[in-house]
Amino acid sequence: MDMTALVSQLLFTLQLLTGYQVSAPEVQQKSRAEIGAIVCPTSKCAPYSAYREGVVYLSHDVDLSIPKGRSTLYHELVHHAQERGTHKGQPHVASGDACSESVAREHEAYAAQNQYLSEIENSGLRAYYNGRCW
Ligand SMILES: [Zn+2]
Repeated sequence: MDMTALVSQLLFTLQLLTGYQVSAPEVQQKSRAEIGAIVCPTSKCAPYSAYREGVVYLSHDVDLSIPKGRSTLYHELVHHAQERGTHKGQPHVASGDACSESVAREHEAYAAQNQYLSEIENSGLRAYYNGRCW
């Protein structure tokens, strides 16, 4: 399945499972080092995936032919929906506290990813969040 078709399918699933509605983001596939240079230039991270300002970054290490890889893309689509989408017709309202806002977004994204893994992929895999603010 090509990227456009996979993203459309995952966004349809996202709307069904969570109530989020959003148009497709741009998806760029890069190396982990290239993604790190974009999303954390000072801390030298090397993430498998990230979301920034309308763009989902996926590293070449994310294998979209398996449930874990698709769930990683799904997680980043949740962040896109949080930033650009509506939830059951309502726009997102920021709390004003950047740290707790970030933690809340990650909790929601991991919960959605785990729901996707169990209900859509019928997989026993679980994704975990370490709960830190940065
Ligand atoms: Zn996340």
